[in-house]
Amino acid sequence: MTELKMLVTGGCGFIGSNFIRYMLKKYPDYQIVNLDKLTYAENFANLRDIENKPNYFFVKGDICDPASVNEVMTKVDQVVHFAAESHVDRSIEDGSVFVRTNVLGTNTLLQSALANKIKKFIHVSTDEVYGSAMEGSFTEMDNLNPSSPYSSSKASSDLLAKSYHTTYGLPVCITRCTNNFGPYQYPEKLIPFFISRLMEGKKVPVYGTGLNIRDWIYVEDHCSAVDFILHNGKSGEIYNIDGGNELTNLEITHRLLKMLGKDESSIEYVEDRKGHDFRYSLDGGKLEKMGWKPQYDFDTALEQTDSWYVENKWWWEPLKR
Ligand code: NAD
Repeated sequence: MTELKMLVTGGCGFIGSNFIRYMLKKYPDYQIVNLDKLTYAENFANLRDIENKPNYFFVKGDICDPASVNEVMTKVDQVVHFAAESHVDRSIEDGSVFVRTNVLGTNTLLQSALANKIKKFIHVSTDEVYGSAMEGSFTEMDNLNPSSPYSSSKASSDLLAKSYHTTYGLPVCITRCTNNFGPYQYPEKLIPFFISRLMEGKKVPVYGTGLNIRDWIYVEDHCSAVDFILHNGKSGEIYNIDGGNELTNLEITHRLLKMLGKDESSIEYVEDRKGHDFRYSLDGGKLEKMGWKPQYDFDTALEQTDSWYVENKWWWEPLKR
């Protein structure tokens, strides 16, 4: 087996930590360097089970800092870039840090990747860059039409990543995935937020009518898609990663209420999010034709996720303080 050296940015976050765990299990010979600033979303405990592995290295650093980035970039062949400010509601309060990390940080990484002749650069992005889909599903050819400062900063970083391929030939692939759920997701995001509030005996706040639609994917399926694209993706290409599970926020809420033995009275309808996209929907046909599709059944994965939060209160409770 080849010994591959990979930089993962944002590896202490929700998806990054699941990705590192997934890759080290599947490819025990890979060497992974995790560059993470440990922002508010940090949770060192996310990787506690692997922190002593000899082929895993953690570096605390900012992707906006060229010196920190260059130092790690000289040691690797491939980059999987997850690091980002990721919470839409926070971006509505103040978009500045989103522009700094998601746009400037991505550019810093791309510059360094080019200088260090990186062989593959996966830029991890989101379905939110396409904006709301009133009907049909977006393909990779559709225009970008982001609504929030978060999705606008991600769309900007997608364009930068693409430009480094077009202009300099940097071997970049861009992935756009739907809403993830699973273990180690910061408890400000819908599913862990609702589970934790219901466990605390509190009501769950549902925006507007609750009829907004999201497509959901279990985090391990997202990790396997990124792995697939690392090995099979073509430079300069964009790949949608869809979960095939479009549900209204109310449908998700009802499932969670049932799992936690609660009823309608635990729902509190609150004022809608500003600029709230009605529906996200991706056409995942391109990846499917190449041979990848999600493996997890939604309801089973949601039940597993619920059990994980019920059993791992020690992990999320301190993050809510
Ligand atoms: P997260 O907020 O849980 O993790 C982000 C990580 O990036 C954190 O560990 C944080 O410390 C780190 N980070 C932030 N700023 C940094 C900086 N300046 N330098 C170095 N590290 C920094 O986010 P997540 O949900 O794991 O999302 C990861 C990526 O996947 C993001 O790019 C996001 O846009 C994308 N994505 C997320 C979802 C989802 O549903 N969560 C869906 C599609 C795409």
